[in-house]
Amino acid sequence: MITGKTQNLGVIGWPIAHSLSPVLQNAAIAKAGIDYNYTALPVEPEKLAEAVAGLKALHYRGWNVTIPHKTAIMPLLDEIDEDARIIGAVNTVVNDEGRLRGFNTDCLGFMGALVKRQVTIKDEKAVLLGAGGAARAVIWGLVKAGAKEVVLGVRNPAKAESLAAEFSSYGRVTVCHWESEEFSQVLADCALLVNTTPLGMTPKVDACPPVDWSKVNPSAVVYDIIYTPAETVFLRQAREHGHMIINGEEMLAGQGAAALQKWTGCEPDIEIMQEALRNALEN
Ligand code: NAP
Repeated sequence: MITGKTQNLGVIGWPIAHSLSPVLQNAAIAKAGIDYNYTALPVEPEKLAEAVAGLKALHYRGWNVTIPHKTAIMPLLDEIDEDARIIGAVNTVVNDEGRLRGFNTDCLGFMGALVKRQVTIKDEKAVLLGAGGAARAVIWGLVKAGAKEVVLGVRNPAKAESLAAEFSSYGRVTVCHWESEEFSQVLADCALLVNTTPLGMTPKVDACPPVDWSKVNPSAVVYDIIYTPAETVFLRQAREHGHMIINGEEMLAGQGAAALQKWTGCEPDIEIMQEALRNALEN
């Protein structure tokens, strides 16, 4: 029950009505039996500074940040943690008695699904398909976990080179055209293959990044960060070729769980969050 003592949480974005965060956060809050309430907060781009000041004035305990505010919010905060600084985006703000601290929990969400399955990244080669906004948290998670090399397989290598260069002081990040001969060799050596493009996402579910499955290391784990549909064409093909597959639901639930943990100190039930997410997507 919401009372005068209930602490407020939310997600800011524009538009925000489609956000699944209230569903998964309130499911975890109810399961943990803690006195918090999480709502979607529409914030227009030009009202961001006012909104942040307002949330602080209202003693919100914290909030998630989504498109288009993930980078724009950074100068409005008192402190940015290392992951968020390196990724270049904040998805979680913690309000510690007026001191606003920015975090990025996407890489924790992404890595959590690998850790849970005991997939080893250290000294291994990982291949990403795509090098956009979401790839940044994935690259950082893999570099931090000690990957020997992260290869960005893309349609436009010139564009991805600057992203690779940004991470070069932390680890080996290289770029390869995904239709080149060289890329076949890269696929043969990889322990992990991740789709970070939107190819295959609802409503264009027939789309798929170009992968010659006969060239992929048969023991490679295949991960698609898309969460709708639950099984993309890319993941279906990987499953049919005998690969262990992971979809984007755990990443989404995991980043939310890490945020809730920072606000409340509780250990959220990720499976409840995933179940709530799946039910919401199906309905
Ligand atoms: P983005 O910034 O638009 O980047 C997409 C990347 O895919 C870019 O490298 C882009 O290449 C490439 N790409 C896009 N359309 C393509 C096409 N038709 N053919 C070939 N390459 C194409 O997107 P994003 O924000 O990174 O998001 C990517 C996906 O991740 C979305 O499906 C999103 O829902 C999902 N996601 C999931 C989670 C989660 O928690 N599970 C979190 C964040 C995002 P160019 O640069 O050449 O255009």
